[in-house]
Amino acid sequence: MLVSGGRRHEASLNEPGLIAKVLDILSVWGRENLGRLGWLVSDPYSYEWWGGFKDPFEIGVSAILVQLSRWEAVDKAITRLRENKLLDPYVLAEAPQDMIKELIKGVGFHESKSRTLKEFSILVVRRGGWGAFINRDLNEVRNDLIKIKGIGYETADTILLFAGNKLVLPVSRLARRVLSRVGVNLPASYVRAQQMLEKLIPEDLGSYKLFHATLVSISKKYCRSKKPLCAECPLQTICGFPTRNLKT
Ligand code: SF4
Repeated sequence: MLVSGGRRHEASLNEPGLIAKVLDILSVWGRENLGRLGWLVSDPYSYEWWGGFKDPFEIGVSAILVQLSRWEAVDKAITRLRENKLLDPYVLAEAPQDMIKELIKGVGFHESKSRTLKEFSILVVRRGGWGAFINRDLNEVRNDLIKIKGIGYETADTILLFAGNKLVLPVSRLARRVLSRVGVNLPASYVRAQQMLEKLIPEDLGSYKLFHATLVSISKKYCRSKKPLCAECPLQTICGFPTRNLKT
């Protein structure tokens, strides 16, 4: 089990044993390594999992910025936004877009992301502030978020889980790459893949956060799209990819 006390549903995958092994490895590896990689494994309800951040709106902003970008660049952009007191939805909603664009320079797609950030903050303000925005039914918040250009299911679910403590499992593109290489066949559809995984993972916030954080980290550190570092990867003992693809 990933986190003790979680509830495991009936398995519906062809390879439930494989998923169980993945979870066991992620659990041990995550607790030993995530801290060094910017995640703070702590109380399941803590916001600090996400880079040690304390403010959920900041997590929302950085979840948008980190799409297809390096965390180091996002961290610098967040510091600049914070220094300019823009990490408040009411202030960000009123800020000139050029100013936002300038402050997040260095982050990939900074021009389009400056628009997304502005729309995100305007939405939060329209709903009455962060508390009123997030403390609604999960699907209502999710539907609001995915209407914003630049926010897809993965980013919306990441915001819901880490900035809203909502019980929803993001299926990141990076997690998908690791799992498919290990040998887990996920449906192409985001929603169906999510439903499949949610049936196999203990249904609690800590397990969902750990699952997302470990797979994203393993993907970035070892399971790169080209030339994965299989010899160093914690999943190498169960992963079929090296045998299938890396024969000399
Ligand atoms: S062993 Fe290689 S292919 Fe498999 S998950 Fe690790 S890095 Fe990716």
